[in-house]
Amino acid sequence: MNLSPRFAPPAELAPLTPEYDPWDPIRSLQRFGRHALTSVEFTVTHLCNMRCEHCAVGDSLTMTELPHLPMELILRRLDEVENLETISLTGGEPTFRLETVRDILVPLLKYARSRGIRSQLNSNVTLDYARYEMLAPYLDVMHISFNYTEAADFHAVGFARTGRNVGSAATARMYERMMENARRLADDGVFVSAESMINYRTHEKMNEIHRMIVEMGCRRHEVHPMYPSSFASGLPVITREQMMDAIHSLLDSRDKDLWMLFGTLPFFACGRDDKELALVRRLGSEPNVTVRGDPDGRNRVNVNLFSGDVYVTDFAAIPPFGNIKSEKLGDVFAKWQEHPMQKMVACHCPSAGCCGPNLLVKDMYFKDVDFTRRHSLI
Ligand code: SF4
Repeated sequence: MNLSPRFAPPAELAPLTPEYDPWDPIRSLQRFGRHALTSVEFTVTHLCNMRCEHCAVGDSLTMTELPHLPMELILRRLDEVENLETISLTGGEPTFRLETVRDILVPLLKYARSRGIRSQLNSNVTLDYARYEMLAPYLDVMHISFNYTEAADFHAVGFARTGRNVGSAATARMYERMMENARRLADDGVFVSAESMINYRTHEKMNEIHRMIVEMGCRRHEVHPMYPSSFASGLPVITREQMMDAIHSLLDSRDKDLWMLFGTLPFFACGRDDKELALVRRLGSEPNVTVRGDPDGRNRVNVNLFSGDVYVTDFAAIPPFGNIKSEKLGDVFAKWQEHPMQKMVACHCPSAGCCGPNLLVKDMYFKDVDFTRRHSLI
Protein backbone atom coordinates (compact mmCIF):
# COMPACT_ATOMS: atom_id res chain seq x y z
CA MET A 1 0.00 0.00 0.00
CA ASN A 2 1.31 3.41 -1.02
CA LEU A 3 1.25 5.64 2.09
CA SER A 4 1.57 8.99 0.33
CA PRO A 5 -0.29 8.54 -2.93
CA ARG A 6 0.63 10.97 -5.71
CA PHE A 7 -2.93 11.56 -6.84
CA ALA A 8 -4.86 11.58 -3.58
CA PRO A 9 -7.67 14.17 -3.82
CA PRO A 10 -7.26 17.47 -1.96
CA ALA A 11 -8.19 17.19 1.73
CA GLU A 12 -10.88 19.88 1.44
CA LEU A 13 -12.98 17.73 -0.92
CA ALA A 14 -15.50 15.46 0.81
CA PRO A 15 -14.60 11.80 0.25
CA LEU A 16 -16.90 9.88 -2.08
CA THR A 17 -18.65 7.28 0.06
CA PRO A 18 -21.91 5.31 0.17
CA GLU A 19 -23.29 8.27 2.16
CA TYR A 20 -22.03 10.88 -0.32
CA ASP A 21 -22.60 10.05 -3.98
CA PRO A 22 -23.16 13.37 -5.79
CA TRP A 23 -24.16 11.58 -9.03
CA ASP A 24 -27.28 10.13 -7.40
CA PRO A 25 -30.38 12.08 -8.57
CA ILE A 26 -32.21 11.36 -5.33
CA ARG A 27 -29.92 13.87 -3.58
CA SER A 28 -30.87 16.81 -5.79
CA LEU A 29 -34.53 15.74 -5.73
CA GLN A 30 -34.47 15.77 -1.93
CA ARG A 31 -32.63 19.08 -1.83
CA PHE A 32 -34.70 21.04 -4.36
CA GLY A 33 -38.03 19.20 -4.15
CA ARG A 34 -37.87 18.63 -7.92
CA HIS A 35 -35.35 17.24 -10.38
CA ALA A 36 -32.55 19.74 -10.97
CA LEU A 37 -29.60 19.81 -13.34
CA THR A 38 -26.56 19.05 -11.21
CA SER A 39 -24.60 16.85 -13.60
CA VAL A 40 -23.35 17.09 -17.18
CA GLU A 41 -21.91 14.24 -19.20
CA PHE A 42 -19.73 15.01 -22.22
CA THR A 43 -19.20 12.67 -25.15
CA VAL A 44 -15.64 13.67 -26.02
CA THR A 45 -14.89 11.13 -28.75
CA HIS A 46 -16.42 8.48 -30.99
CA LEU A 47 -13.08 6.73 -31.42
CA CYS A 48 -12.17 3.58 -29.52
CA ASN A 49 -9.52 0.87 -29.67
CA MET A 50 -12.11 -1.74 -28.65
CA ARG A 51 -15.59 -2.76 -29.88
CA CYS A 52 -17.25 -4.31 -26.86
CA GLU A 53 -20.25 -6.38 -27.83
CA HIS A 54 -22.45 -4.70 -25.21
CA CYS A 55 -21.31 -1.14 -25.99
CA ALA A 56 -24.15 1.33 -25.44
CA VAL A 57 -22.77 3.62 -28.15
CA GLY A 58 -21.30 0.97 -30.46
CA ASP A 59 -23.29 2.19 -33.44
CA SER A 60 -21.86 5.70 -33.21
CA LEU A 61 -18.18 4.68 -33.02
CA THR A 62 -16.15 5.95 -35.98
CA MET A 63 -12.60 5.85 -37.40
CA THR A 64 -12.11 9.64 -37.75
CA GLU A 65 -13.75 12.69 -36.26
CA LEU A 66 -14.23 16.42 -36.67
CA PRO A 67 -12.81 19.14 -34.39
CA HIS A 68 -14.41 19.74 -30.99
CA LEU A 69 -16.48 22.80 -30.19
CA PRO A 70 -14.45 25.72 -28.78
CA MET A 71 -13.54 25.26 -25.11
CA GLU A 72 -14.69 28.82 -24.42
CA LEU A 73 -18.28 27.87 -25.37
CA ILE A 74 -18.18 24.62 -23.37
CA LEU A 75 -16.95 26.35 -20.21
CA ARG A 76 -19.45 29.19 -20.60
CA ARG A 77 -22.28 26.67 -20.75
CA LEU A 78 -20.95 25.01 -17.59
CA ASP A 79 -20.58 28.39 -15.85
CA GLU A 80 -24.30 28.92 -16.42
CA VAL A 81 -25.28 25.73 -14.55
CA GLU A 82 -25.71 27.15 -11.11
CA ASN A 83 -26.12 23.92 -9.16
CA LEU A 84 -23.53 21.89 -11.03
CA GLU A 85 -22.02 19.19 -8.80
CA THR A 86 -20.55 16.60 -11.17
CA ILE A 87 -19.28 16.09 -14.70
CA SER A 88 -18.64 12.82 -16.52
CA LEU A 89 -16.40 12.39 -19.55
CA THR A 90 -17.18 9.54 -21.86
CA GLY A 91 -16.70 8.18 -25.38
CA GLY A 92 -15.62 5.97 -27.19
CA GLU A 93 -12.35 5.80 -25.34
CA PRO A 94 -11.76 9.38 -24.14
CA THR A 95 -7.98 8.95 -23.99
CA PHE A 96 -7.67 7.41 -27.47
CA ARG A 97 -6.09 10.58 -28.95
CA LEU A 98 -3.44 12.47 -27.04
CA GLU A 99 -4.87 15.75 -28.40
CA THR A 100 -8.21 15.00 -26.72
CA VAL A 101 -6.44 14.35 -23.43
CA ARG A 102 -4.44 17.56 -23.66
CA ASP A 103 -6.98 19.95 -25.22
CA ILE A 104 -10.31 18.71 -23.86
CA LEU A 105 -10.00 16.39 -20.87
CA VAL A 106 -7.32 18.25 -18.91
CA PRO A 107 -9.00 21.69 -19.29
CA LEU A 108 -12.40 20.27 -18.32
CA LEU A 109 -11.01 18.47 -15.29
CA LYS A 110 -9.06 21.54 -14.17
CA TYR A 111 -12.20 23.65 -14.55
CA ALA A 112 -14.20 21.17 -12.48
CA ARG A 113 -11.58 21.03 -9.72
CA SER A 114 -11.42 24.84 -9.58
CA ARG A 115 -15.21 24.93 -8.90
CA GLY A 116 -15.19 21.98 -6.48
CA ILE A 117 -17.19 19.96 -9.01
CA ARG A 118 -16.58 16.22 -8.90
CA SER A 119 -15.51 14.42 -12.04
CA GLN A 120 -15.59 10.97 -13.57
CA LEU A 121 -13.78 9.60 -16.61
CA ASN A 122 -15.09 6.46 -18.31
CA SER A 123 -12.04 4.71 -19.73
CA ASN A 124 -10.95 1.21 -20.68
CA VAL A 125 -7.45 2.08 -19.26
CA THR A 126 -5.75 -0.09 -21.89
CA LEU A 127 -3.42 2.65 -23.20
CA ASP A 128 -0.12 4.05 -21.89
CA TYR A 129 -0.12 4.91 -18.21
CA ALA A 130 1.33 8.34 -19.11
CA ARG A 131 -2.09 9.39 -20.49
CA TYR A 132 -3.81 8.62 -17.21
CA GLU A 133 -1.04 10.37 -15.29
CA MET A 134 -1.92 13.59 -17.14
CA LEU A 135 -5.51 13.36 -15.88
CA ALA A 136 -5.19 11.81 -12.45
CA PRO A 137 -4.16 14.99 -10.55
CA TYR A 138 -7.57 16.55 -11.27
CA LEU A 139 -9.82 13.51 -11.46
CA ASP A 140 -12.22 12.19 -8.80
CA VAL A 141 -13.35 8.85 -10.27
CA MET A 142 -11.68 6.65 -12.88
CA HIS A 143 -14.52 4.45 -14.04
CA ILE A 144 -13.54 1.24 -15.81
CA SER A 145 -15.50 -1.72 -17.16
CA PHE A 146 -14.53 -5.08 -15.79
CA ASN A 147 -16.44 -8.16 -16.94
CA TYR A 148 -13.71 -10.74 -17.13
CA THR A 149 -12.04 -13.54 -15.25
CA GLU A 150 -9.33 -14.17 -17.85
CA ALA A 151 -7.82 -12.79 -21.05
CA ALA A 152 -10.04 -15.03 -23.19
CA ASP A 153 -13.17 -13.27 -21.79
CA PHE A 154 -11.64 -9.88 -22.57
CA HIS A 155 -10.93 -10.98 -26.14
CA ALA A 156 -14.42 -12.38 -26.66
CA VAL A 157 -16.25 -9.38 -25.15
CA GLY A 158 -14.04 -6.57 -26.41
CA PHE A 159 -12.99 -7.56 -29.90
CA ALA A 160 -15.61 -9.84 -31.39
CA ARG A 161 -17.08 -6.93 -33.34
CA THR A 162 -13.98 -5.03 -34.43
CA GLY A 163 -14.54 -6.03 -38.06
CA ARG A 164 -10.90 -7.10 -38.33
CA ASN A 165 -8.91 -9.99 -37.02
CA VAL A 166 -7.36 -9.04 -33.69
CA GLY A 167 -5.06 -11.75 -32.39
CA SER A 168 -5.55 -13.18 -28.94
CA ALA A 169 -1.87 -12.58 -28.01
CA ALA A 170 -2.32 -8.84 -28.65
CA THR A 171 -5.54 -8.66 -26.64
CA ALA A 172 -3.96 -10.65 -23.80
CA ARG A 173 -1.27 -7.95 -23.56
CA MET A 174 -3.96 -5.26 -23.46
CA TYR A 175 -5.79 -7.18 -20.76
CA GLU A 176 -2.64 -7.30 -18.62
CA ARG A 177 -1.99 -3.60 -19.21
CA MET A 178 -5.56 -2.70 -18.26
CA MET A 179 -5.25 -4.52 -14.94
CA GLU A 180 -1.79 -3.12 -14.31
CA ASN A 181 -3.00 0.44 -15.04
CA ALA A 182 -6.00 0.01 -12.75
CA ARG A 183 -3.73 -1.28 -9.97
CA ARG A 184 -1.25 1.57 -10.44
CA LEU A 185 -3.96 4.21 -10.46
CA ALA A 186 -5.48 2.77 -7.29
CA ASP A 187 -2.06 2.58 -5.67
CA ASP A 188 -1.38 6.19 -6.70
CA GLY A 189 -4.50 7.30 -4.80
CA VAL A 190 -7.10 7.50 -7.60
CA PHE A 191 -10.62 6.33 -6.78
CA VAL A 192 -11.04 3.52 -9.31
CA SER A 193 -14.61 2.32 -9.72
CA ALA A 194 -15.02 -0.89 -11.72
CA GLU A 195 -18.35 -1.57 -13.36
CA SER A 196 -19.57 -5.04 -14.25
CA MET A 197 -22.67 -5.94 -16.15
CA ILE A 198 -24.86 -8.83 -15.23
CA ASN A 199 -25.48 -10.56 -18.54
CA TYR A 200 -25.49 -13.93 -20.26
CA ARG A 201 -21.70 -14.18 -20.02
CA THR A 202 -21.15 -12.92 -16.50
CA HIS A 203 -24.15 -13.86 -14.35
CA GLU A 204 -22.53 -17.04 -13.06
CA LYS A 205 -19.06 -15.51 -12.72
CA MET A 206 -19.86 -12.34 -10.80
CA ASN A 207 -18.29 -13.54 -7.56
CA GLU A 208 -14.96 -14.22 -9.25
CA ILE A 209 -15.14 -10.88 -11.13
CA HIS A 210 -15.78 -9.16 -7.80
CA ARG A 211 -12.77 -10.87 -6.21
CA MET A 212 -10.50 -9.65 -9.03
CA ILE A 213 -11.84 -6.10 -8.67
CA VAL A 214 -11.00 -6.19 -4.97
CA GLU A 215 -7.51 -7.47 -5.79
CA MET A 216 -6.88 -4.58 -8.21
CA GLY A 217 -7.44 -2.14 -5.34
CA CYS A 218 -10.64 -0.61 -6.74
CA ARG A 219 -12.62 1.47 -4.28
CA ARG A 220 -16.03 0.61 -5.63
CA HIS A 221 -17.70 -2.18 -7.55
CA GLU A 222 -20.55 -0.89 -9.66
CA VAL A 223 -23.04 -3.46 -10.97
CA HIS A 224 -25.71 -2.97 -13.63
CA PRO A 225 -27.76 -5.43 -15.60
CA MET A 226 -27.03 -5.32 -19.32
CA TYR A 227 -29.91 -4.10 -21.45
CA PRO A 228 -29.43 -5.30 -25.00
CA SER A 229 -30.41 -2.13 -26.83
CA SER A 230 -29.09 -0.53 -30.06
CA PHE A 231 -25.64 -1.98 -30.88
CA ALA A 232 -26.14 -4.81 -28.36
CA SER A 233 -29.65 -5.68 -29.46
CA GLY A 234 -28.64 -9.09 -30.86
CA LEU A 235 -27.25 -10.39 -27.55
CA PRO A 236 -29.05 -13.06 -25.52
CA VAL A 237 -31.04 -11.87 -22.50
CA ILE A 238 -31.12 -13.46 -19.07
CA THR A 239 -34.27 -13.67 -17.00
CA ARG A 240 -35.02 -11.42 -14.05
CA GLU A 241 -34.75 -14.53 -11.82
CA GLN A 242 -31.20 -15.17 -13.05
CA MET A 243 -30.41 -11.53 -12.34
CA MET A 244 -31.81 -11.81 -8.81
CA ASP A 245 -29.82 -14.97 -8.18
CA ALA A 246 -26.61 -13.30 -9.37
CA ILE A 247 -27.19 -10.33 -7.05
CA HIS A 248 -27.99 -12.49 -4.01
CA SER A 249 -24.93 -14.59 -4.65
CA LEU A 250 -22.75 -11.48 -4.96
CA LEU A 251 -24.16 -10.05 -1.73
CA ASP A 252 -23.40 -13.36 0.00
CA SER A 253 -19.83 -13.60 -1.19
CA ARG A 254 -18.71 -9.97 -1.54
CA ASP A 255 -15.93 -8.26 0.37
CA LYS A 256 -18.01 -6.23 2.82
CA ASP A 257 -15.35 -3.50 3.07
CA LEU A 258 -15.79 -2.56 -0.57
CA TRP A 259 -18.54 -0.15 -1.57
CA MET A 260 -20.95 -1.85 -3.98
CA LEU A 261 -23.15 0.37 -6.10
CA PHE A 262 -26.07 -1.14 -8.00
CA GLY A 263 -27.82 0.82 -10.75
CA THR A 264 -30.50 0.57 -13.45
CA LEU A 265 -32.01 -2.46 -11.71
CA PRO A 266 -35.44 -3.68 -12.83
CA PHE A 267 -36.52 -4.23 -9.21
CA PHE A 268 -38.55 -1.69 -7.29
CA ALA A 269 -40.13 -1.16 -3.89
CA CYS A 270 -43.51 -1.00 -5.67
CA GLY A 271 -42.92 -4.48 -7.16
CA ARG A 272 -45.73 -6.99 -7.25
CA ASP A 273 -43.61 -9.99 -6.50
CA ASP A 274 -42.40 -11.08 -3.03
CA LYS A 275 -38.98 -12.16 -4.28
CA GLU A 276 -38.44 -8.77 -5.87
CA LEU A 277 -39.46 -6.97 -2.67
CA ALA A 278 -37.18 -9.21 -0.60
CA LEU A 279 -34.23 -8.30 -2.83
CA VAL A 280 -35.04 -4.57 -2.65
CA ARG A 281 -35.22 -4.86 1.16
CA ARG A 282 -31.94 -6.71 1.28
CA LEU A 283 -30.17 -4.17 -0.93
CA GLY A 284 -31.47 -1.41 1.32
CA SER A 285 -30.19 -2.99 4.51
CA GLU A 286 -26.74 -4.28 3.54
CA PRO A 287 -23.81 -2.19 4.81
CA ASN A 288 -21.65 -0.53 2.13
CA VAL A 289 -24.26 -1.22 -0.56
CA THR A 290 -26.11 1.52 -2.42
CA VAL A 291 -28.67 1.54 -5.20
CA ARG A 292 -28.23 4.64 -7.31
CA GLY A 293 -31.18 6.22 -9.09
CA ASP A 294 -30.73 6.74 -12.80
CA PRO A 295 -29.18 10.18 -13.48
CA ASP A 296 -30.16 10.30 -17.18
CA GLY A 297 -32.64 13.12 -17.64
CA ARG A 298 -33.19 13.44 -13.88
CA ASN A 299 -30.15 15.41 -12.75
CA ARG A 300 -28.01 14.97 -15.87
CA VAL A 301 -27.89 15.61 -19.59
CA ASN A 302 -25.38 14.38 -22.16
CA VAL A 303 -23.64 16.84 -24.49
CA ASN A 304 -21.96 15.82 -27.73
CA LEU A 305 -18.79 17.94 -27.90
CA PHE A 306 -18.69 17.92 -31.70
CA SER A 307 -22.23 18.86 -32.67
CA GLY A 308 -23.28 20.53 -29.42
CA ASP A 309 -26.40 18.36 -29.38
CA VAL A 310 -27.88 17.67 -25.95
CA TYR A 311 -29.28 14.21 -25.23
CA VAL A 312 -31.05 12.71 -22.27
CA THR A 313 -28.57 9.84 -22.41
CA ASP A 314 -25.52 8.81 -24.41
CA PHE A 315 -27.50 5.84 -25.78
CA ALA A 316 -28.70 8.14 -28.54
CA ALA A 317 -31.90 6.12 -29.02
CA ILE A 318 -33.81 9.26 -28.07
CA PRO A 319 -33.12 12.17 -30.45
CA PRO A 320 -31.38 15.34 -29.19
CA PHE A 321 -33.66 17.91 -27.60
CA GLY A 322 -31.42 20.99 -27.70
CA ASN A 323 -28.01 22.33 -28.67
CA ILE A 324 -25.46 24.25 -26.61
CA LYS A 325 -24.51 26.44 -29.57
CA SER A 326 -27.75 28.32 -29.13
CA GLU A 327 -29.21 27.27 -25.76
CA LYS A 328 -28.28 27.21 -22.09
CA LEU A 329 -28.11 23.76 -20.55
CA GLY A 330 -30.63 24.72 -17.87
CA ASP A 331 -33.16 25.70 -20.55
CA VAL A 332 -32.67 22.43 -22.44
CA PHE A 333 -33.04 20.47 -19.21
CA ALA A 334 -36.27 22.32 -18.38
CA LYS A 335 -37.66 21.31 -21.80
CA TRP A 336 -36.92 17.65 -21.05
CA GLN A 337 -38.73 17.83 -17.72
CA GLU A 338 -41.91 18.61 -19.68
CA HIS A 339 -41.37 15.80 -22.20
CA PRO A 340 -43.99 12.99 -22.08
CA MET A 341 -41.23 10.35 -21.88
CA GLN A 342 -39.79 11.95 -18.76
CA LYS A 343 -43.23 12.37 -17.22
CA MET A 344 -43.89 8.66 -17.78
CA VAL A 345 -41.15 7.70 -15.27
CA ALA A 346 -41.38 10.75 -12.99
CA CYS A 347 -42.45 8.93 -9.84
CA HIS A 348 -40.91 9.38 -6.39
CA CYS A 349 -41.29 7.32 -3.23
CA PRO A 350 -39.32 9.02 -0.45
CA SER A 351 -39.71 6.04 1.92
CA ALA A 352 -37.87 3.84 -0.60
CA GLY A 353 -35.38 6.52 -1.66
CA CYS A 354 -36.51 5.80 -5.22
CA CYS A 355 -37.23 8.17 -8.10
CA GLY A 356 -38.41 5.75 -10.75
CA PRO A 357 -37.05 3.48 -13.46
CA ASN A 358 -34.61 4.15 -16.23
CA LEU A 359 -36.32 4.53 -19.61
CA LEU A 360 -34.71 1.39 -21.04
CA VAL A 361 -35.83 -0.63 -18.01
CA LYS A 362 -39.37 0.68 -18.38
CA ASP A 363 -39.36 -0.14 -22.07
CA MET A 364 -37.98 -3.63 -21.60
CA TYR A 365 -39.86 -4.92 -18.56
CA PHE A 366 -42.69 -2.55 -17.74
CA LYS A 367 -44.17 -1.37 -21.04
CA ASP A 368 -47.73 -1.31 -19.70
CA VAL A 369 -47.00 -0.16 -16.16
CA ASP A 370 -47.89 3.39 -15.14
CA PHE A 371 -45.32 4.07 -12.44
CA THR A 372 -46.90 7.38 -11.57
CA ARG A 373 -49.80 5.34 -10.12
CA ARG A 374 -47.64 2.95 -8.12
CA HIS A 375 -46.30 3.35 -4.59
CA SER A 376 -43.60 1.79 -2.51
CA LEU A 377 -44.74 -1.23 -0.50
CA ILE A 378 -41.75 -0.96 1.81
S1 SF4 B 1 -40.52 5.75 -7.11
FE1 SF4 B 1 -41.61 4.76 -8.79
S2 SF4 B 1 -40.41 2.93 -9.28
FE2 SF4 B 1 -39.75 3.65 -7.27
S3 SF4 B 1 -40.98 2.51 -5.79
FE3 SF4 B 1 -42.05 4.43 -6.19
S4 SF4 B 1 -43.48 4.02 -7.85
FE4 SF4 B 1 -41.98 2.34 -7.81
